[in-house]
Amino acid sequence: RQGLSRSRGAKRPDAQGGRGGFVPPFVSKAMSAAGAEGELPTKVQELLAGPDGELPEALQQLDVQILEMICSEILEGHAGSAVAWDDIAGQQQAKRLVQELIVWPMLNPHLFKGARAPPKGLLLFGPPGTGKTLIGKAIAANIKATFFAISASSLTSKWIGEGEKMVRALFAVAGVLQPSVIFIDEIDSVLSARKSEGEHEATRRLKTEILIQMDGCDPSAADRRVLLVGATNRPEELDEAARRRMPKQLYIPLPCADARRSMIERQIGPGSSVPSALSDADLSKIVDKTKGYSGSDMRALVQEACQGPVRDAVALHAEKLATLSEADLRPLNIRDFQMAARAQRASVQPSEIQRYEEYDARHGARY
Ligand code: ADP
Repeated sequence: RQGLSRSRGAKRPDAQGGRGGFVPPFVSKAMSAAGAEGELPTKVQELLAGPDGELPEALQQLDVQILEMICSEILEGHAGSAVAWDDIAGQQQAKRLVQELIVWPMLNPHLFKGARAPPKGLLLFGPPGTGKTLIGKAIAANIKATFFAISASSLTSKWIGEGEKMVRALFAVAGVLQPSVIFIDEIDSVLSARKSEGEHEATRRLKTEILIQMDGCDPSAADRRVLLVGATNRPEELDEAARRRMPKQLYIPLPCADARRSMIERQIGPGSSVPSALSDADLSKIVDKTKGYSGSDMRALVQEACQGPVRDAVALHAEKLATLSEADLRPLNIRDFQMAARAQRASVQPSEIQRYEEYDARHGARY
């Protein structure tokens, strides 16, 4: 391994600025090692330091600014903001498979050894906005794991030249805060089989580093339980090395009619603050009309529909806008949804779905 920085306690003449201030990730010269003398940033101290106030050995050689970024931007906390399986509408088959394949083994590693050992990595593929991130969070919540979420494209754009260090630090932190789930969105952007013209040396190194770190993931390891969940809208772009490391590839399709219905009911049903005059028949009409909508399209549609009563109230009494309350609004009706559907159309093209289905037929995990 290439040394990241100097040894613990050594002075670094080029270190600029304190540890507290933000240093853009590409100004690597200004970074200092986490194990060096001086105060650690508060978040790093709180989340990573041991009772003695010292960082675990595995983190001491890493750049402290990168550790701080991981703590503040990538680490989403314990239990992954607590998404429950029931919060994810539809996707019954994927939820069942993920639980059997990943959650059970992580809850009881002793039982799931050898032939029952869980895969080291999981790939979720399908159109955007269908719940892939939610599934990653639900896995983390279920096994009381720390959830890390990063978009792979940010490793090449935001972390220009530093992506490799970032990845190494991320997996090291995940090991320290195990059990952990690392969710890498748009994973195809760094593990693509296609060589982009003039691929940078830094990009090649980043790819190699991710593959090395993926090899080190093991959800059933006794002392370092880390699961990698990759997500992509372009699974066919992944190279063989990436596929081998994520042997289970699960198709997360657009929501079915039942799922779309429950997405609407959750947002405006009993218990929500939005009164609705929708009949069962109205609801069925909306469900029919929204065939092809993704989960995030559905959410946007309902939000847009909820503006209808507000617009009407303001049109009637613009002068009362500042004092309007929920009680002054009429209930939602089907017209609100009809209007909203003009603004919020399905974001996924039918031709894309055919592409996913073909890929699924060739590579998808079967239930
Ligand atoms: P992606 O598949 O792109 O990772 P996300 O999981 O981030 O999609 O979903 C984006 C948003 O869309 C969620 O925060 C949620 O509001 C909504 N959504 C998507 N799929 C579902 C689903 N199956 N059940 C409930 N909400 C969903």
